[in-house]
Amino acid sequence: MLQISLNMTKAVLERCRTRKLLSTWSPLANAFNAPPAKRINFARNDVGLFRMQELRSADGFYLLRENVENSTQELIAEAISSQRQRKMVDIFDELSDSLCKVADLAEFVRIAHPKNKYMQAAEEACINICGVVESLNTHKPLYQALSRVVHEGDMMPTSEVDQHVAKLFLFDFEQCGIHLPEQERLRVVRLNDYILQLGQKFMNGAAQPTVLPRSAVPENIRHYFPTSGDNIIITGLCTNAANVQMREAAYRFYLQPSDSQEELLKDLLMCRNELARSCGFATYAHRALNGSTMETPELVREFIDELSEQLRPRADADFTLMTQMKRKESGQPRALVEIWDTPYFTTQLKRQSLEEQANEFLPYFSLGGCMQGLDNLLHSLYGVRLQTAEMEPGESWHNDIYKLAVVHDDEGLLGYIYCDFFERNGKPNQDCHFTIQGGKRLADGSYQLPIVVVMLGLSPPRWTGPTLLSPARLDNLFHEMGHAMHSMLARTEHQHVTGTRCATDFAEVPSVLMEYFASDPRVLRTFARHYQTHQPISEDMLQRLCASKHLFAASETQLQVFYSALDQVYHGDMALQGASTTETLREVQQRYYGLPYVEHTAWQLRFSHLVGYGAKYYAYLISKTIASWIWQTYFEANPFNRQAGEKYRAEILAHGGAVPSRKLVANFLQREVTPRVLADSLIHEIDMDESKIKELIISRN
Ligand SMILES: [Zn+2]
Repeated sequence: MLQISLNMTKAVLERCRTRKLLSTWSPLANAFNAPPAKRINFARNDVGLFRMQELRSADGFYLLRENVENSTQELIAEAISSQRQRKMVDIFDELSDSLCKVADLAEFVRIAHPKNKYMQAAEEACINICGVVESLNTHKPLYQALSRVVHEGDMMPTSEVDQHVAKLFLFDFEQCGIHLPEQERLRVVRLNDYILQLGQKFMNGAAQPTVLPRSAVPENIRHYFPTSGDNIIITGLCTNAANVQMREAAYRFYLQPSDSQEELLKDLLMCRNELARSCGFATYAHRALNGSTMETPELVREFIDELSEQLRPRADADFTLMTQMKRKESGQPRALVEIWDTPYFTTQLKRQSLEEQANEFLPYFSLGGCMQGLDNLLHSLYGVRLQTAEMEPGESWHNDIYKLAVVHDDEGLLGYIYCDFFERNGKPNQDCHFTIQGGKRLADGSYQLPIVVVMLGLSPPRWTGPTLLSPARLDNLFHEMGHAMHSMLARTEHQHVTGTRCATDFAEVPSVLMEYFASDPRVLRTFARHYQTHQPISEDMLQRLCASKHLFAASETQLQVFYSALDQVYHGDMALQGASTTETLREVQQRYYGLPYVEHTAWQLRFSHLVGYGAKYYAYLISKTIASWIWQTYFEANPFNRQAGEKYRAEILAHGGAVPSRKLVANFLQREVTPRVLADSLIHEIDMDESKIKELIISRN
């Protein structure tokens, strides 16, 4: 249904090949520098949201739900039948596919659709699918059928990938305790419910402002904060406030300890530990890291320790520089940098090094120009083009969405990316990537094409000119497109492990790697041109822009190491916890961060990521490290290297999560993934960047 004619694709490709590099924008750039084309075509029928017939109206969600319920029953019957004709893993993947297709779509529509009717129908569908999944999770015969296949082998021939994916399905099953005796299983279900509630309460509490009576706040700083009656309200850390007293006061007041938050966090950690132990794991971290790139909390700890030791002198140098900045700014020769100063001085130095306001870079990064840059890069690396595709009546949820067909020179159409790039009322203010349909091999041998949405919060183009991206927005665009391309370039047999559906501590590798490309002068030079004059960005601006991204990398990384370590300790052995979560914080901070803990504060009680990530906060740090390693090994010498791109696609992206990520990385980089190798690689990058920055400063003086 979603195929476009191959001949048409070929024709478009020919045109692309013969087009010379002109100093004008490509059709893709022009398309993204103007609002999406609005065509009213009365002759054609409404094709339904995402071209799903059922979704020509919001009521279609009921139909989808009904279909899922029916196909679920059929697939269960097939799985447990003694006359089964297909591999167990194929039946499970189809089951998962039919559920995910509705669940993921409904989740997206619930969040992003501007019409209430659709949001509500989608929300009901989400709840309904949750119910179906819950009933599957307690379906003993289904579990036993899968368990038998995993432990004794299938009666049909299976590949290593099949066995790995079947194991992943089994692990998901056992998360809910289905393998336990009934009493134990019920306890696991209760614990899961309770943990969910505790997590929600903790997140709520973490976002509440601190309310203090006026008398509790020194008179000279009261005026910095809003008041309500006799109270002063502190809604957050004023990290970028120029006034140091304001930063300090906000830090101390906003992070005041709270008994109720402390109790919630302690309970949450305790219940998670109990849950993990009920399921046979030593700690919650052991459970959370099952199947991850790092595999065990012990290896994460080793990595953190190794990195931390090498970072310390480098981060200390950053803090010394910040102290100098603070002394100069305040005129106080004895001032020292404090924990509430670091984001402020990091921003200050970045601004100084850019030497101009970030918005002077804006005209060089029109959205269309950036898309053209992306297209060129993807074509160089993978032989893939981004082509604007026509949106059919009813296909889209809003009139400012672009649709891209991702077309490979030889393989043809790989999938579709819907670009929901512009802010609008009610749309969540977060850049993200949604999978609407995962790629998978179908029974007839054809391939179910991946469909994703990339969501950004850019301001829409106006009649006065196109959307312009700040350097940070440019990074985000490349990052999210990195996720999308992970889905597009994957060619897995099973949708359960396609694209971004891989280990959490690997999922950010392809997206963070794209940020390396977005920070490389050679890549930026191909498209950073003034949107009106077509004048390329000056070399000087380009160098400063790229260098500014690496400032204070050591101290920023150290902060991530500290957060990761704290999350690991909290979710580790309960016997090693302090009397309170604050006591644990104090110990971990002293060991892993260069600036001391501030008495009577409890930063961790505001750290809501503890809920969502639970023992996986380190995932971003590891993804970043692996991306850095890949960049240094394959792309730093030449970011347009086709051979490296093809190899990266074939050995990493194509597999999604079908092969354990640790194995993928070791194979691709031809080296064992040890904590030492990982830490060395990231430190090497920090040192190289540091010397580049110094060179730049020297060459300018
Ligand atoms: Zn990401």
